[in-house]
Amino acid sequence: MQFTPSVGGGRPYAWPRTLPAASRKTAQKPFVTYPQMRIVLANPRGFCAGVRMAIDVVDRVLDLYEGSAIHVYHEIVHNKHVVSRLRERGAVFVERIDEVPEGSIVVFSAHGVSPEVRKQAEARNLTAIDATCPLVTKVHAEAIRYSRQGFQILLVGHADHQEVIGTRGEAETATQVVETVADIDRLRVDDPAMLVYLTQTTLSTDDAAVIIDALKARFPEIKAPPSEDICYATTNRQHAVRTLAGDCDLVLVVGSTNSSNSKRLTEIAQTAGTRAHLIDDVSEIDPAWFTRGDETVLVTAGASAPENLVAGLCRHLVETFGATIETRLVAEEDAAFALPGALRRIMKDRGITGHEKPIRVGLPEVTADLYGTVPLSISAPTPASR
Ligand code: SF4
Repeated sequence: MQFTPSVGGGRPYAWPRTLPAASRKTAQKPFVTYPQMRIVLANPRGFCAGVRMAIDVVDRVLDLYEGSAIHVYHEIVHNKHVVSRLRERGAVFVERIDEVPEGSIVVFSAHGVSPEVRKQAEARNLTAIDATCPLVTKVHAEAIRYSRQGFQILLVGHADHQEVIGTRGEAETATQVVETVADIDRLRVDDPAMLVYLTQTTLSTDDAAVIIDALKARFPEIKAPPSEDICYATTNRQHAVRTLAGDCDLVLVVGSTNSSNSKRLTEIAQTAGTRAHLIDDVSEIDPAWFTRGDETVLVTAGASAPENLVAGLCRHLVETFGATIETRLVAEEDAAFALPGALRRIMKDRGITGHEKPIRVGLPEVTADLYGTVPLSISAPTPASR
């Protein structure tokens, strides 16, 4: 697929930096080919269904209660652009429930909350709309079930991450957080036959495997969760970077620094031996990263990063370096999550349709409205994605 020809077409032409100044004056653009930057655009990338659903929830609540301050407990998703857009629309982000005025509406973020937070919201007579990703809720349900059965839970994850705080809160006394292999020596285990491990949904699959192997070596009877806790979106985005980064000179991950899954993508690229940078948007690009101007750059995005930011980055590389874009499909993706029950009820009571329709997210596409006219080719799926 080609929106415009890659040489001599409608895009602004940028001379490669390696071309001597004298040659720039004399060379005839259409007849001379020079090495060109290549963007490899990873697919899947960016928004997952849980993030899309959570953002939609806040937008719909703001529409429903236009003019009122809508409070959101914690950043709805970990992306500074998403948060600032919603803040401009009237959302007020808080880190404590007692900051929410009594009797008002509060939205819980995609990362989930502990029962203690729900209790505090009830005590303040708040209408809580829970935008927790269903895949996080699944891990909460596992924690509740195993603790009721008398298991001790080893929760593999980052202790200070909002999701881990929420999951741990479901079974506070039964749960110990394991961040690294070194933590295993410090665990207090009553009965090794009554142990289960669970994981944060956005871990690096490689790092988690190392910790889980060490747990199994130390506690051979430890039980695994009934299905994988690391979610489909995290797994697929990491798989794409692992598959593609080795053939690239540089990896640019669009995402915020507090986004766990975005940080993991950067680390996976670095582990593959490729330079990688996590950037919120195109303004954070450092020209020194492109020493030749003909690099192959893998572009991807964490699950909370909007596609328009990816498009802005690609447009910049096309305009500045004459880059061409090649999309690479590594895994198919199509997921749909229902809106939270409390929101569906409010919409239904007001006669607003659409509440019964789940939020569906498939693969992102390079569209002319976001990307403009860019030189584009789309690869056949890799064997792994078939
Ligand atoms: S990254 Fe995974 S767990 Fe987090 S919101 Fe997306 S689908 Fe849900």
